[in-house]
Amino acid sequence: MNGPAAPQHLVTRFAPSPTGRLHIGHGWSALMAMDLARGSSGSLRLRIEDIDGARSRAEHVDGIIEDLRWLGIVWDGPVVFQSQRLDLYMTALDRLRGMGLLYPCFCTRADIAASTTAPHGPEGPVYPGICRQLPEPERERQMAAGQAHAWRIDMKAAVKKAGGVTWSSFSPPSVVAADPLAHGDVVLARKDAPASYHLSCTLDDAAMGITHVLRGNDLRAATDIHCLLQALLGLPSPAYLHHPLLLGPDGKRLAKRAESIALADLRDQGVDPARLAADLRAGVFPVGISLADA
Ligand code: GLU
Repeated sequence: MNGPAAPQHLVTRFAPSPTGRLHIGHGWSALMAMDLARGSSGSLRLRIEDIDGARSRAEHVDGIIEDLRWLGIVWDGPVVFQSQRLDLYMTALDRLRGMGLLYPCFCTRADIAASTTAPHGPEGPVYPGICRQLPEPERERQMAAGQAHAWRIDMKAAVKKAGGVTWSSFSPPSVVAADPLAHGDVVLARKDAPASYHLSCTLDDAAMGITHVLRGNDLRAATDIHCLLQALLGLPSPAYLHHPLLLGPDGKRLAKRAESIALADLRDQGVDPARLAADLRAGVFPVGISLADA
């Protein structure tokens, strides 16, 4: 069973995906991560989560770095790019495959949507297990035919192997029982990307020696899966804090869409970044922006 890390030196990270411009919610999150590191002579790492080749853009990488610098975020060490770490992900996939915990999934989105048996999990419909039930010869036939496939984890088998998993929250300090089964057989290697977010994030947090993960509440459920992977792969488990998300004037959470307040727009408008950072730290958000309930 994995347990809380006992860090001698706190290491946290900010890990944006370069699929759009950063908004003030990202700025707020990055400031909290930096303050967490600086408050304990720890370090802050920057990781660009760019394995999604279709949605990641070089111009967003440049924009993210410019925005963070403008806001006064200072990170330690080189920027880590997930697109340069594919070998690490492949090796872990091989290990999990060797444990008999992965199966190829040939389903299209339409196949899954058409399934009437898909139950709902914390993040929407759960994969109904169509390809888990494929007879081995059929699986081999599709693989030999070069059929596009993802790799899914057989969650029941994985939970059986790992036993009960927990993750630790560092604020407030507590130990939380994870429920990976609720997510069903999640994808660990995508048809269109060599690894999924869950796999790459878990492996990189361990490889980068991250002791404290601070991220939005939208990723709270993902932590159930990450701590299961840590247990299966014998990785240390960082402590977690999931902060509330910011809502826009429409009451919807800020996203990388045009109506969200982008840091780049504030920069162009001549906003004083030191003032903005002080306001965000004090929980004073621009007009129309509010904090979602935890
Ligand atoms: N790359 C993710 C995002 O931009 C964050 C991942 C994480 O903090 O675990 O939403």
